[in-house]
Amino acid sequence: MDHHKMECKNCNKVLEQSFDYCPYCGQIANLGRLNFKQLLKDLWKAFSDADKGLLILIKQLIARPGHVARDYIFGKRKKYFNPFSFLAIMVAITLFFILQFENIGLNYAQITTGDGELLRFSFKYFNLLILLMCPIYGIVIWLLFWGNQINFVENLVLSAYLSGQTMVYYIIALIFFIIFPSSINILGTIIGILISLWYIMAILQFYRTKSFWSILKSLSVIIIAQLISQGLLLSTFSIYSKFTL
Ligand SMILES: [Zn+2]
Repeated sequence: MDHHKMECKNCNKVLEQSFDYCPYCGQIANLGRLNFKQLLKDLWKAFSDADKGLLILIKQLIARPGHVARDYIFGKRKKYFNPFSFLAIMVAITLFFILQFENIGLNYAQITTGDGELLRFSFKYFNLLILLMCPIYGIVIWLLFWGNQINFVENLVLSAYLSGQTMVYYIIALIFFIIFPSSINILGTIIGILISLWYIMAILQFYRTKSFWSILKSLSVIIIAQLISQGLLLSTFSIYSKFTL
C-alpha cells in the first residue's frame, strides 16, 4: 500500500487519502482512538445533531409522528433515528426520572387512595410495562388496519416511535406533578386525553386516511391496547402478590 492510500478501520477496504468517509461502509475515514472526550462528543452529536439527532426527532414526532414512521419504513433509514434505539433510550431516561420521583409519588398515592402496593409494583416494573406496550400497540394497530399493505414489523416501527415519544410526554407530566402535586388527577386526565388524540392523529397519518371509519378504528386501538395492558398489569400484580405476601 503506497502513502496516498489508507485502510478503512471498519471494513479494511483500501481508501484514497482524500476520503472523509469510507465509500463501502460509511465509517469516518481517519477515525481516532476512543477516549472520554470522543465519547462525550459522540453522545452530544447523537442528541443534538440537526439532521438525525434525538432532539430533532422528538420535535418532528410532536406534529408528524405517522409521517416519520412512514418515511422510515419506506426507505429514509439514515434520515431518522432508529425507532427501537429511540424507545430504549427514552425508557432508560424515563426510568431515571421515575426513580427520582418514586417516593413523592408513593407517599401521595398512599395518602389519597391508601393503595400504594399496585403503584409500587408499577414503578418497579415500569420499564417492562412500557416495553410491553410497544408490541401490544403494534399488534392491535396491525390487526385493526389489516389489508393496508403494511406488515407487522412496519407497524412495530410506528408503535416504537409512539411509545418512545410517549415517554417524553410522561417526563413533562412528571415535572408538572412534582411542581403541582395536588393537580395529579385533573392533569392526569388531560394528559391521557391529549396523548390519545395524538395517537389517533399518528395512526391516521401513518395509514394516510381521514375517514370516519379509520378514526373509529384508531379510537378502538387505544381502548383495546389500554384494556390489554391494564389486564396484564393487574394479573401479573395478583400473581406477584401471591408469591411475595
Ligand atoms: Zn469501510
